[in-house]
Amino acid sequence: MALEDVFKKLVAHCKEYGYVFPSSEIYDGLSAVYDYGQYGVELKNNIKKYWWDSMVLLNDNIVGLDSAIFMHPTIWKASGHVDAFNDPLIDNKDSKKRYRADVLIEEHIAKIEDKINKEVEKAKGRFGETFDEQKFRETNPRVVANQAKIDEINTRFSVAMNDTNLAGIKQIIVDNEIVCPVSGTRNWTDVRQFNLMFATEIGSTAEGASKVYLRPETAQGIFVNFLNVQKTGRMKLPFGIAQIGKAFRNEIVARQFIFRMREFEQMEMQFFVQPGTELEWFKKWKETRMNWHQALGFGSENYRFHDHVKLAHYANAATDIEFKFPFGFKEVEGIHSRTDYDLKQHQEYSGKKMQYFDPEKGESYVPFVIETSIGVDRMFLQVISAAYDEELLTKEDGSTDTRIVLRLPSFLAPVKLAVMPLVKKDGLPEIAEKIVHDLKFDFNCQYDDKDSIGRRYRRQDAIGTPYCITIDHQTIEDNTVTIRYRDSMQQERVRIDQLTVLIKEKVSLQSLLKKL
Ligand code: ATP
Repeated sequence: MALEDVFKKLVAHCKEYGYVFPSSEIYDGLSAVYDYGQYGVELKNNIKKYWWDSMVLLNDNIVGLDSAIFMHPTIWKASGHVDAFNDPLIDNKDSKKRYRADVLIEEHIAKIEDKINKEVEKAKGRFGETFDEQKFRETNPRVVANQAKIDEINTRFSVAMNDTNLAGIKQIIVDNEIVCPVSGTRNWTDVRQFNLMFATEIGSTAEGASKVYLRPETAQGIFVNFLNVQKTGRMKLPFGIAQIGKAFRNEIVARQFIFRMREFEQMEMQFFVQPGTELEWFKKWKETRMNWHQALGFGSENYRFHDHVKLAHYANAATDIEFKFPFGFKEVEGIHSRTDYDLKQHQEYSGKKMQYFDPEKGESYVPFVIETSIGVDRMFLQVISAAYDEELLTKEDGSTDTRIVLRLPSFLAPVKLAVMPLVKKDGLPEIAEKIVHDLKFDFNCQYDDKDSIGRRYRRQDAIGTPYCITIDHQTIEDNTVTIRYRDSMQQERVRIDQLTVLIKEKVSLQSLLKKL
């Protein structure tokens, strides 16, 4: 099936099974804003818990914070967001579609990279064991020419972005003959800047309301509280502050479902270190964060780093962790070495010292910062797209059937187990209800007695429930039930009094955290 079709099905599935709804749907929706349904909110909470515990529970030098969405407007001056949080936008005059110029260029580079990779794969097949990839990349004329093209675009792109040279950015699009994916033409407008922050007013107009912004990232709330936390928590460098919260960006191009939203949630951790040690810590956090993703078991081949050539004004190293979504490899998380830029800026704009007194060195200084920043919603999309599976089953009579199953890691699944009486009589529903009543303190359980047992299993597969418990007539005789496993569809008989221990072990976050 074409990948776009998989993605369309995934979006439809999310809606049909109570994961994600378009916001304000009865009013025809609000662009790039979504609501999480009854299962979506559970999955989101589980993702947040996985992140939070991996930061705050596993590291005794990382603590949490919950700062407000509204902050003093000068903060956004200091952080650079008022003057520099702009995306370069460009319109195609034929399709009337709007694009981020930087994204058009990055996608063009990715296409050339794909060509190189295909060439390498072909050669690998031809030469077999003796293949020397590095040598091939350095000597094959087509690969060398394509790599030179990439390098040239990257250099021009980086200079143009750093100088905010909008005409220069457009020229890259023109020179590389980049076409609009919709109209296929090169009929572009000039590139313009667009600030992504939402502004509103605080206080009543009568008393002179002032302009405030909805925060476009949670990081600044951490920076401005750096000394509060350090002093009250008696924290010593290196230490980190973690925060989960909403962020808002007036994105120019908001397609691709919950990948790019105007209201979204971030999980950010700022790690404060001694100046000069930041690149070591940057490396360490790169590894730690990649392990966190890969521990979910979606296949290491579906992740890669994308190191930035074009560094933001505050960074001295930056990388993205990219995941292979149905629409290609895209960023889920950014890891940035932000130097002492933010704290120094706040020091300057607020007039308050943002320094740490180092008892070992006997001196004060502004720490350097490593940031790990991941979108909850993008992580949600990662999980759900990796988990969505259409499995072709062959029945006993030789006919086939498709089973839609969300292969969610058990810990993340919204419902851990469904309890089902085989029939709605003979006392079986009462036993099922008692099991739900006993287990609901430990797990999110669901009671289901509607339709045939086969249809009930399918319904649970579609929402990703890892275990189904069935109560039948044998249960009355020997207090055993069948447990059916979502992924293998295998069933086994277990005693009712074993259920808690058995399932607890399988769905616990602990076992996931221990892999880190
Ligand atoms: P992009 O290049 O995709 O716009 P970014 O580099 O601006 O992302 P950061 O500012 O580094 O993103 O934000 C950190 C993380 O926050 C991203 O890796 C992503 O997971 C998430 N994020 C950023 N913008 C959005 C958005 N509009 N919708 C959903 N998640 C977002």
